[in-house]
Amino acid sequence: MGRVVVVAAVIGVATAVAVAAVVGRRFVRKWRRRAKALAIVKEVEEKCATPIAKLRQVADAMTVEMHAGLASEGGSKLKMLITYVDNLPTGDEEGLFYALDLGGTNFRVLRVQLGGKGGGIVSQEFTEVSIPPKLMVGSSSALFEYIASKLAKFVAEEGPDFQIHPGRQRELGFTFSFPVMQTSIDSGNLIKWTKGFSIDDTVGKDIVAELTKAMEKQGLDMRVTALVNDTVGTLAGGRYTDKDVIAAVILGTGTNAAYVERAQAIPKWHGLLPKSGEMVINMEWGNFRSSHLPLTEFDHALDMESLNPGEQVYEKIISGMYLGDIVRRVLCKMAEEASFFGDTVPPKLKVPFTLRTPDMSAMHHDTSADLSVVGNKLKTIFEIQDSSLESRKVVIELCNIIATRGARLAAAGMLGILKKLGKDTLNDSEGQRFVIAMDGGLYEHYDAYSKCLEDTVAELLGEVVSQNIVIQHSMDGSGIGAALLAASHSQYLEG
Ligand code: ADP
Ligand code: MG
Repeated sequence: MGRVVVVAAVIGVATAVAVAAVVGRRFVRKWRRRAKALAIVKEVEEKCATPIAKLRQVADAMTVEMHAGLASEGGSKLKMLITYVDNLPTGDEEGLFYALDLGGTNFRVLRVQLGGKGGGIVSQEFTEVSIPPKLMVGSSSALFEYIASKLAKFVAEEGPDFQIHPGRQRELGFTFSFPVMQTSIDSGNLIKWTKGFSIDDTVGKDIVAELTKAMEKQGLDMRVTALVNDTVGTLAGGRYTDKDVIAAVILGTGTNAAYVERAQAIPKWHGLLPKSGEMVINMEWGNFRSSHLPLTEFDHALDMESLNPGEQVYEKIISGMYLGDIVRRVLCKMAEEASFFGDTVPPKLKVPFTLRTPDMSAMHHDTSADLSVVGNKLKTIFEIQDSSLESRKVVIELCNIIATRGARLAAAGMLGILKKLGKDTLNDSEGQRFVIAMDGGLYEHYDAYSKCLEDTVAELLGEVVSQNIVIQHSMDGSGIGAALLAASHSQYLEG
């Protein structure tokens, strides 16, 4: 009897010890995985750090590259393209003008009736059409004929609020947000596609000629009077309502900046000095790169696997097309090396661009107690069935690291422009207000990003100077801006 009890007791203790060992091992393994995952996040955080001193180096590098790009063609990674826009809208423009905005996943067509001096915008209408992905990598004619057909349809549906001057040809401002070597205000050759577009037979061609050919085929009598990009359009749109606008920055799918330069300060400008003495420069700043940019293994991998390796390095760390994918890449490493989402790596985590920036921002902004937005996104996007609260917190932390780096580097770029213009310190123009017009879906919708950007600009400029620098969201600047530039460069203007 006593023996049985002893044996049972021994077995019981042995089982308890074994169970404890298994549980303990599991616990240790879990703990190790967690530590490993956190170590990956910590390393990313360190590599992505943007202390003020670093941002100043980036800003200085931007200023240096701006000078180099203005000095000679090919003098810098920054193309510093002459836009031929020497006539920004004044507010006195009058009549009916159109705009076509092509530069990302959608294109827009728009018409505005301008009231002339003091009249402002009397009426406006637009329509947005998404671009079938197959046209983004097809042929030039297929893409432009598709666009022209939508434009013709838009014109055909015009109501009585819009009146063209009798006997006049319709005029269009064409916002084409890819690098173009402009040859005049209404012509320019495509340098290269970006943002996922890749149509070989368009490179080197005059974009206006391509569009005009397609419009003629549609029987549409319309003339392109201004070829601009979204950044220049945003600058023009901002200037129409605010005389103090000196620069524009786009943060959307891609990123770019434009600003008003003294024509005298453009050594590579060999044309007549414009009457205004000013010329808008399209920086194509997405292609900026510098040894001071904090890059990680994830950025290098993203770049190598992209359609344009080695190019648009700045764009690839600050703009909307890429931020989500950087986060995905880090999560993928955490899943692979630290089993962050369990024993198997969720297959969707390995697929490029499954995590889009709007989803990243939705997770980043999740304030619910159980972080249910993050949980749902992980479920719907990566088929991760049950994520712990703790892992959701880590995901948010990661979104914050990547968004913060992007926003702070964008702010440093803006400081670079202000430095070039001598408006980063107090000087004789003391107290004068300067406005930077901003647009783009990333800036508009990713609140944590835009707030960080604005805070960082203020931090970089200091309390006193930052009071004079205004960052202003220019609503749909690119669309209306192009129509305004079509007006300020109209073929019917006297002189
Ligand atoms: P595009 O740059 O293509 O002309 P937009 O300026 O509208 O178009 O920007 C669209 C981009 O903005 C998207 O590709 C996306 O990266 C970003 N974006 C849109 N909505 C959000 C959002 N809610 N949060 C974060 N980013 C967003
Ligand atoms: Mg756009």
